[in-house]
Amino acid sequence: MLACEIHGAKDLRVAERDVDALKPTDVRVAVKAVGICGSDLHYYQHGRVGDFVIREPFTPGHEASGQVIEVGAEVSTVRPGDRVAINPSRTCGVCRYCRAGAFNHCENVHFFGSASRFPHMQGAMRESIVVEQRQCIPVPASLPFEIAAFGEPLAVALHAVNRAGSLLGKTIMVVGAGPIGALTLMAAKLAGARELIAVDIVDQTLAACARVGATCTIHAGRDPAALDALAQAKGLVDVCFEVSGSYAGLANCIRVTRPCGTIVQVGTLSGSSEGCPFNQIMVKSLSLIGAFRFTDEYEWAVDYLSRKVIDVSPLLTEAMPVARVHEAFALAGDRTRAMKVQVTF
Ligand code: ZN
Repeated sequence: MLACEIHGAKDLRVAERDVDALKPTDVRVAVKAVGICGSDLHYYQHGRVGDFVIREPFTPGHEASGQVIEVGAEVSTVRPGDRVAINPSRTCGVCRYCRAGAFNHCENVHFFGSASRFPHMQGAMRESIVVEQRQCIPVPASLPFEIAAFGEPLAVALHAVNRAGSLLGKTIMVVGAGPIGALTLMAAKLAGARELIAVDIVDQTLAACARVGATCTIHAGRDPAALDALAQAKGLVDVCFEVSGSYAGLANCIRVTRPCGTIVQVGTLSGSSEGCPFNQIMVKSLSLIGAFRFTDEYEWAVDYLSRKVIDVSPLLTEAMPVARVHEAFALAGDRTRAMKVQVTF
């Protein structure tokens, strides 16, 4: 089996690996499409994500779909030949968080493509992968594998919207208009938001958001006056989604959110927080809410994609065969050219 492996910064290799053994409740899936996410890019570019440093050959990828090729003796939910979206989160089901339904905080989670633990939790960017049957969500034959692989990022977006509460009739703003930002905007639209504002510093990502439903796009670098206008009268936006992971982005959210409004933190914040007006969270009685990964939203996401309730195809920049994986990562790292790039097998 071929597997993509990151050995360190800018050191990605395609290696031949043995396939994993199959337990009675396991499913072997031939991976067909894997999206490149921001964290995958970070591991590739820097050999680390924050404190998580690559210490052994590491296979990235957690946005995957494929076709079942073998099932264990006790598997009843899928059969060889079934097309599936693969939930990258294998939770324990018994810890206090799982028992409370907060699967995204499982104490014993195995999540594809994360170096947060050692040995690392290997990802899905390989020819085949062994998962538990409950991680396999069947999809119709009419759904392209590339679209099915959007299940994970769409689940993140749906979870962010869920965390915000009702959006019916609301004005929402998404700061950071990459794939997760664009999907959050689409999820907010699905949830009934009326005005959908996308903010970024790259024209191409804003154009992509306009294609998927943004009613207004703002280039934060070139047009700060547009943000000033939203900040008047203590703020005109009901709910902000901070997806950029920058304190400058969070500062804009705090400025434009109306008193008693909500900010959902979706991005991984890094850099200096100096100058971020945190005190306004108190002054304006804002609710600042975190949104980490997803719980039940993965299955909802796959259902929405399967029934074409949400059309994510405008966000797919290119799906490249694994032989072009280096090119794929280079393209994914260029925000002026790429929204979502995938690797196919
Ligand atoms: Zn658990």
